[in-house]
Parts: sequence; C-alpha cells; structure tokens
Amino acid sequence: MLKVKGASCFRCHIYAKIGVVKLDAIVVGAGVVGVTAALALQQRGMKVMMLDQQSVAQGCSFVSAGVIYPGAFPSGTYYRTPDFPAAFFKASSAAALDWRSVPGFLSWGIKYARATSSNMVWHATDLLHELCRDSLRSFEMLLGVDLPPINRCGYLAVHLSPYEVDRAIRLNTIHTSLGAAARIVSGGELTVLEPAMCRLAIGPKAADATYLEGSAHVTDPAAFVASLADVFVQRGGLLCVDTVQGLDSAGSGKVTVRCAREKYLSGTVVLATGSRSNRLLAHFGHRIPLVAEMGYHLELDVEPGFISRPVSLQSLGVILTPSPRGARISGISHFGAPGFRGRPSLLLSALDRVREVLPMLRARPGFEVRSGERPATPDSLPVIERVSGHPSIFVSTGHGHLGLTLAAVSSRILADLVTDGSSIYSGELSSQRFRRSTKRRAVVQAA
Ligand SMILES: Cc1cc2nc3c(=O)[nH]c(=O)nc-3n(C[C@H](O)[C@H](O)[C@H](O)COP(=O)(O)OP(=O)(O)OC[C@H]3O[C@@H](n4cnc5c(N)ncnc54)[C@H](O)[C@@H]3O)c2cc1C
Repeated sequence: MLKVKGASCFRCHIYAKIGVVKLDAIVVGAGVVGVTAALALQQRGMKVMMLDQQSVAQGCSFVSAGVIYPGAFPSGTYYRTPDFPAAFFKASSAAALDWRSVPGFLSWGIKYARATSSNMVWHATDLLHELCRDSLRSFEMLLGVDLPPINRCGYLAVHLSPYEVDRAIRLNTIHTSLGAAARIVSGGELTVLEPAMCRLAIGPKAADATYLEGSAHVTDPAAFVASLADVFVQRGGLLCVDTVQGLDSAGSGKVTVRCAREKYLSGTVVLATGSRSNRLLAHFGHRIPLVAEMGYHLELDVEPGFISRPVSLQSLGVILTPSPRGARISGISHFGAPGFRGRPSLLLSALDRVREVLPMLRARPGFEVRSGERPATPDSLPVIERVSGHPSIFVSTGHGHLGLTLAAVSSRILADLVTDGSSIYSGELSSQRFRRSTKRRAVVQAA
C-alpha cells in the first residue's frame, strides 16, 4: 500500500519548492480520475505532481463497487423528471434528496429534465457505450505490464418483477446493438453462474437476470487506485498531501497553486476534484452543472467466494460485489450539494429489503457504512475541458456512476487536450453543451 505521508511527501515539497524539479503539470485530486490523468500526462513525457487533501482514493473512489462496465445508459433512461418526487418521498426508495440542498439542486434539475428528451438520452447512450467499450483497452495502454489484476467474468443484474424483465429485454437489445452483448439468463444457468443466488433463481417467484459477459471488476477499488498511484510514483511522479485553497493564473501562462502548506507553480493544472470541482473553478467564473449523488457501501458478513462476480438488484438500488473479505453491498442515490451530510441509514434500510429475498446477508460486525459523493452531471456524461480564458487550467469531473469504468478513457481524452490542444470529444464533453441546449431551444422557439 502506498504511503503518501512522511518522507516521499516531504521530498516532493522540498524538490518542487526549491525548484530542483521543474513541474510540467499538477493534478489536483488523487481519486481514480486524477491518478489516471496523472499517469496519462506522465506517459506524454511530462513531469507531474499529484496533490490531494486526504490520500489516494479516499474520496468517492473508495466507495466504488468496482465494476468496469462494457456499456452504460444515462440516468435519464431510468428516471424521468416526474419520477423524482415519488422516488424522493417513498420510504423504501433507493433515491433520496437532501432537502437543505434544494435551492442549489433546482437549476441542475432543469438541465436534467432537458437531458431526458429522447434524442439527448439516445445521444448519451451512444456516447457512453463508445467510451465504455474502450475502457479495458485504455487501462492496458496506460499501465502495460503494471496493470493490477482485473477480473473479467461478467456482471449479473437480477430482475425482481416482470416489469423489470420487459424493460431489461428492451435495453439488452440496445446494449447488444452497441457492442455490449447482454442476454437474459434464468433458473439453472443463473444458479450455475452464482450458486448463492439459487433462492432467487428457482421456485414459483423465480427471477431472471441480465448477464453482461463483457463486464469486468476489481475486488478492492481503493487498493486498485493505490496500485496505480504506486506505478505513477515508480515512473517518477510526485505525490503530496495538501489541500488546494485556490489557483491564480499568471500572465506568463503559469498557474500558482495555493495550498494549505505550500505554493507551487506549474505550466498546466488539472482539476480532478470530483464533486468539489466548482469550489476551485469559482475564482475563474467557471461553473459546471454538478451535484453530489452520494452512495454508500458496507462489508457483508459472508465468506470469500460467496459470489464470484458483481450481482445487482436494480429495483432495490444496490449491488453486491466480491471483496477481499467476502462481499460488499453498495448503492443508493442520495442527491445534494457537495459536502452535504449523508444518511448511512439509507443503505441499512436497503439491506433490510435485500434480506427479504436473500436472508443470509447481514453487515459484518465492526464495519461501518462508508459514503462517497458521485460527481453527477445532468446528462450522465463527464466534463473534460480546458477552462475558458485560462489555457493552462483543465478539468476532468462528472463521472457519476462510471468513474472507474471511464477513468482511463478520460485520461487519454484529457492528455489529448493538454498536449495537442483538442480531442475528438472536445465538443461533446465540454460543459458548454449545457449552454448550447438553452440556445438551441431559444432558436427553435423563435422559429
Ligand atoms: C456506491 C458507489 C458505487 C460505485 N460503483 C461504481 C462502479 O462499480 N463502477 C464505476 O465505474 N464507478 C462506480 N462509482 C462511481 C465512481 O466511484 C466515481 O465516479 C469516481 O470515484 C469519481 O472519481 P473522482 O476521481 O472524480 O472523484 P473522487 O474519488 O471523489 O476524487 C476526488 C479527489 O479530489 C480530492 N480533492 C477535492 N478537493 C480538493 C482540494 N481542494 N485539494 C486537494 N484535493 C482535493 C478529494 O480528496 C478526492 O480524493 C460508484 C460510486 C459510488 C458512490
């Protein structure tokens, strides 16, 4: 496990401060998006330093379920705007809203409503599949022989009602047409794949499941990201624990990064600060429509090998994933302003509902619910862009439910932007897309 406090951090302070090391780029945020961004810039020959206020993967990336999806749908596929009030008020729902955050949530909600139009959902579905398809190959290209183990044994989504099965059949056809083969499995086949699910697979109320064979997973997402950060340091990267308090863009094109303990100067700064990105961007008058979609995870009291691949129970809003100790349960979409106070009881209530179909599951004694803020955009697509008017400052955020899946792909898009000045996704992943839809509507209305 990587140690960032102590000697290596101290050395990095001294070297960068006295100018022994000339920094080409500073990446702020050592979650999965920041670590892969740092690796990609390093691969392009840059001397990179990564800064985080905590340590590696202690933000949202710690809580991830660890699935690398071969294709994905935007949230608008499942929840239209009118569905939200009911979802937020229902006691047994997997979605909740922090009511104190409502004022900040409104303008995001309006953009979300626009993003649920059928052509925008279709566009996001197509693009997410294109990006996810490239995920494993991008990790391989970034890490080569240093890539930590990734389990490539698929993913099961169990459907607990005929309505869910009907919807899954429709969505599986789209998945398959976009290159992420998905098929329905049931009964004996489901039991062979996951013997622990036999209670769900057999009997009068037997459930069907979707099997996504091209899906992969890591059993310990935080350890996976820490291994990537180890590779970054072994390849000559600097890693430092410090809180970035502000950025100043100097006329020379250099950026001063003001931290709690030091100041650093760099030709390029990348903000990979997840749900907290707008705080540092505010100084430049730049704002990305971003809310915190908090999720939770908890270790379950089961033996290793209980399940061999991720198994989701979509209607209950949770996913069971293999972990080094046995398995974890994770999920819940709890929306609010970044930094809001979470409610771990939401996951414990979901676990109670899961126990109605899988009664053997209970929390592992001595473990607590951990929470993480998914950085959520209205259209479920990330934002990877250069900050307008500040050519040395870049941002990569908004990866929502897909940060692990899209991290390596995003890092390549970002590195293209930094080193070549553009990427083939520059337009589609810029936050300008949310402004454009307003303009387009105005033009249509005027016509
Ligand atoms: C329950 C749950 C399950 C999930 N499951 C999956 C999954 O199976 N597959 C998948 O692909 N994705 C999954 N996700 C989503 C994924 O975890 C996120 O998209 C991803 O972690 C976002 O990564 P990030 O690096 O952008 O943010 P973070 O991991 O939050 O990293 C941001 C970092 O920035 C640092 N930071 C912020 N501000 C400052 C500052 N001012 N100075 C210094 N440092 C700062 C923070 O300390 C933090 O370490 C899941 C999320 C949740 C909550």
